[in-house]
Amino acid sequence: MIRSKYGIPVASPGAILREESLAGTELGIAAEALTRHGKLVPDSMVLQVVEHWLEKIDDGFVLDGVPRTLGQATDLESLLKKRSTPLEVVIALDADLPTLQKRVINRLICQSCGQSFSVGLHVVSSQSVCPNCGGKLGRRGDDTLETLEFRMREYLEKTAPLIGFYENRGLLHRIDSQETPESVFGAVVKILEAE
Ligand SMILES: [Zn+2]
Repeated sequence: MIRSKYGIPVASPGAILREESLAGTELGIAAEALTRHGKLVPDSMVLQVVEHWLEKIDDGFVLDGVPRTLGQATDLESLLKKRSTPLEVVIALDADLPTLQKRVINRLICQSCGQSFSVGLHVVSSQSVCPNCGGKLGRRGDDTLETLEFRMREYLEKTAPLIGFYENRGLLHRIDSQETPESVFGAVVKILEAE
């Protein structure tokens, strides 16, 4: 929604790595082996993907799902400092555990463009086609409640400290993401347009 309203390019290392794994590249295969078990890919691999992607960007950008660890956050900070393009806004989308469980069960990924959708929110059923490109939708092999539990432990240990990290820098905005996509996006727009 940010991309289509403002024309700002969005990078999601998760989506990029899934593309790499579909293409069977070395990086993709290594990343898939880790994420299949809910593990986070190593900081160096994630930052490599981001750095490579940023080489093609001259203006504003959105990073989605990165950083996920303090190591990634500090590496990203020095990478962006080198480019003189520091982060201006950090948005945390809050949701409780039952909501996350429902989303994992309902999540479909487009096999062509890599975007993710939720049954009931963005598409009617698992038989629907991608609203973005008309591609085929499928479930991710690692979208299970068991993997979610593992991801939650990783999140609490490694990602949750980023809330304080970005709060200290005066960049953090938190949004209740349990509303409809339109109302969550409305909150995002308010934040972006206040900057
Ligand atoms: Zn698509």
